[in-house]
Amino acid sequence: MSFSNIMDSNSYSPDHPVDPVTGSMIAARARMLGPAYRLFYDQPVNLVRGEGTRLYDIDGACFLDAYNNVACVGHCHPHVVEAASRQLATLNTHTRYLHRGIIDYSERLLATLPDKVDQVMYACTGSEVNDLALRVAAMHTGATGVVITRDAYHGNTATTTAISPSIGGATIAGPHVRIVAPPDSYRIPADELANRFTADVSAAIADLQSAGFGMSALIVDTIFSSDGIYPDPLVLAPAVAAVHRAGGMFIADEVQPGFARTGEAMWGFSRHGVLPDIVTMGKPMGNGLPIAAMAAQAGVLEAFANDIPYFNTFGGNPVTMAAAAAVLDVIEDDGLLDNAASVGGLLRAELTGMTEDHPRIGEVRGAGLYIGVEVVTESGAPDRTGAKSLVNAMRERRVLISVCGHDGSVLKIRPPLVFSRSDVDWFCTEFAAALASSF
Ligand code: PMP
Repeated sequence: MSFSNIMDSNSYSPDHPVDPVTGSMIAARARMLGPAYRLFYDQPVNLVRGEGTRLYDIDGACFLDAYNNVACVGHCHPHVVEAASRQLATLNTHTRYLHRGIIDYSERLLATLPDKVDQVMYACTGSEVNDLALRVAAMHTGATGVVITRDAYHGNTATTTAISPSIGGATIAGPHVRIVAPPDSYRIPADELANRFTADVSAAIADLQSAGFGMSALIVDTIFSSDGIYPDPLVLAPAVAAVHRAGGMFIADEVQPGFARTGEAMWGFSRHGVLPDIVTMGKPMGNGLPIAAMAAQAGVLEAFANDIPYFNTFGGNPVTMAAAAAVLDVIEDDGLLDNAASVGGLLRAELTGMTEDHPRIGEVRGAGLYIGVEVVTESGAPDRTGAKSLVNAMRERRVLISVCGHDGSVLKIRPPLVFSRSDVDWFCTEFAAALASSF
């Protein structure tokens, strides 16, 4: 099976001519950071400042950010900057001292989750909390088998790399890992999505059991971002039931859909009507500060937590807790869940209207401010080249997006949650022009 490579799908390649300043920075990175790093776009962007949904480059040119979910409440949101700066100027230690910040934040965060998901542990990255979640699931179940989707991305530690085939290159799924097709709503009829996914997960469980690994966990990004953005709701419920029947855990990876992104719920799993055993989250949690969390049902956490002490030097420190609390303030006070629903709905409707009869756009889909646009060839096959040229045409017009999916053929539109109606107009004007120039 060939896998897409999420890192290379929209990356700069050295055969593209660039201006001297850009060229010297690229060379300095290559010299000192080595060859593993990737830059976006044929013409890399050299950013120096951000504000809301706007990013500014070294020449003062203004870009519309339709890509960055980390800055969920907008780049450099003053409330977050103020809260983090104030805490940084007051005290920043770690979780081996008492501090009110982690207690107050945990109370607020847990209140957004189902009652049964009642404990939370902190780290700095999504990779770390997924790594932790796998350990917790293995301790609870006594099994190690993990089921993932075909182009999953769950992190860059040794353990999470083994469940992240979309990294590409020399990455291989671990021997204890079984891969299922994602619920591809573009190619599979809606009424078959849940059944097919469940049948695949059930077969994977049986295979793990007969291979002696047993069933530890199904881990899913509940908006299937790297797989190509599949937003159909209620698809996961029967598969999760099958996992539970086999004694396994369901880990909802909310790094992408979490924190109101889908406009319908704070968490992506809620749209599927499932109760996760473990929930992981990160990216938007601190609007750019490194803070991530793993929440779990206390009974699931018990075997791990009773036996193994946990310490993470930076995870849950007072500064990141202050930032994370400020992010929740803004999501709540500025109604960003509703904004994601209404502005995301508007953007989807505009894009659908604009591309309905376009032979190279197969579908516009999404939930809230997570939108995928399926780029296809004349014959309807996934079109990696077409998607890449659209992304670069948008970049030339100073609108930032990227691609995802098995073939790198799905445009990934995932702006800060503060995206406005006038940002939608701006985006659509440039998208119409990019479409005209690309095909
Ligand atoms: N899970 C998902 C679904 C992700 O998209 C990512 C990051 N792209 C991760 C986990 C890993 O997060 P981090 O980069 O913070 O380690």
